[in-house]
Amino acid sequence: MDFLDMDIHLTKEDMMLKKNANEFARKVMRPIAKELDAMTPDKVIAKGSPFWTFMKKGYELGYHSILIPDAYGGMGLTPLQQAIVFEELAWGSVGLTVAIGVASFPAFGAAMVPEETMIEEILVPYCENRDVTMIGCWGITEPDHGSDTLMPGHPSFRDPKIVSQCVATLDGDDFILNGQKSAWVSCGTIATHCALFCQIDKSMGHAGGGIFVMPLNLPGVKKGAALDKMGQRDLNQGEIFFDNVRVPGKYLIAGPEAYEALLEIILSTTTAFMGIAATGVARAAFEEALTYAKTRVQGGKALIEYPTIQTKLFHMLRKVETSRAISRAAFCYNQNTSMPAEEYSLMAKIHGTQAAFDVASDAIQIFGGNGLTKEYLVEKLFRDARAMLIEDGSNDTLAISGGHKIIQTYPRKD
Ligand SMILES: Cc1cc2nc3c(=O)[nH]c(=O)nc-3n(C[C@H](O)[C@H](O)[C@H](O)COP(=O)(O)OP(=O)(O)OC[C@H]3O[C@@H](n4cnc5c(N)ncnc54)[C@H](O)[C@@H]3O)c2cc1C
Repeated sequence: MDFLDMDIHLTKEDMMLKKNANEFARKVMRPIAKELDAMTPDKVIAKGSPFWTFMKKGYELGYHSILIPDAYGGMGLTPLQQAIVFEELAWGSVGLTVAIGVASFPAFGAAMVPEETMIEEILVPYCENRDVTMIGCWGITEPDHGSDTLMPGHPSFRDPKIVSQCVATLDGDDFILNGQKSAWVSCGTIATHCALFCQIDKSMGHAGGGIFVMPLNLPGVKKGAALDKMGQRDLNQGEIFFDNVRVPGKYLIAGPEAYEALLEIILSTTTAFMGIAATGVARAAFEEALTYAKTRVQGGKALIEYPTIQTKLFHMLRKVETSRAISRAAFCYNQNTSMPAEEYSLMAKIHGTQAAFDVASDAIQIFGGNGLTKEYLVEKLFRDARAMLIEDGSNDTLAISGGHKIIQTYPRKD
């Protein structure tokens, strides 16, 4: 099923990218995601699992390098094109979209601060990779530090009493890493590389962090078990442990002097991305509900003929459209400026994920009892959408961050 894209400036190339991504989402992602959803977490990543079929096909099409400029071998898409493709992929499966999106995180980090050694060792080989032997992850949250790691600019972020559970200590030209990252690290148990956000200067609290873009085959790195959870079951997640891991200094791409500012720039992309992915989930739920309401007959009439169902569907589509509007705008604005307005990305994430949850819930209501069964996609969409209210920052704490930012910087001077 198609939808009206209200952006009248989309080019033929944009439309073609959208069509191709939708085809991949429909033919490859949807059936694989359904299979993976019913599996145990260890089976999802076992040899021969359809998860690897998806990843291999995705890498072959270059979707693992959507965020990387073509100068390094990435897809070289404009921010708008990235948004268009991500929405389609998430329409297919948000869990698989996050898996292939986060796989690029170390390369994405390396592209932000391009050093010759990192370009040669990580960036270019990752973009050229087709057999899924390079998979990245983003390790930022810890068992005792979730929300507070994602609140740059907030006073708590600079509280020296908050001590991380993953700390890097300078030793000559190297760093020694000790501690762990949370069980929520996406692709955590299968990753070969990590964009590791950890504490270096304890006197600065979380703001004293550093970003390492590093391989995970160094002595002392261990992985946890794959996490079992309610939604996005097709997305592998798990802990990473560091026991006296010696990390060469070349892998540090940002130290405490730049950490807080760089994190804010990165979150401006990742949180807006979540809004875009949520638009795909919401649209999928709306489409399922519309199709069902046209065929399900109750009281001698198709559901669609009842005004309450019509208004429900209208409000569902309204939420899809407003979600796309704010998410695309924030994603494109913040990727085109050196001083991102993070608050707009926060709005995109909060609005989009809440919309996806509401629309998926309304879709289940329209399906009645059938909506609660595994037979229908809306049941999975609802669980996937529920996870998004917490993923990449709980919506409540992101709003605290956004409120603080607005009070500090408004009225804006630019
Ligand atoms: C699907 C998914 C994918 C994820 N992927 C990754 C990943 O790739 N890498 C990674 O590192 N992490 C990842 N995460 C972790 C995610 O970022 C955290 O779950 C999230 O930031 C919330 O942290 P927490 O779970 O520790 O909850 P907590 O921080 O413990 O929060 C619990 C509750 O308390 C509230 N709360 C917390 N602090 C405050 C406060 N100051 N004031 C008021 N209320 C507060 C929160 O809103 C929430 O309701 C992922 C999570 C999910 C669900």
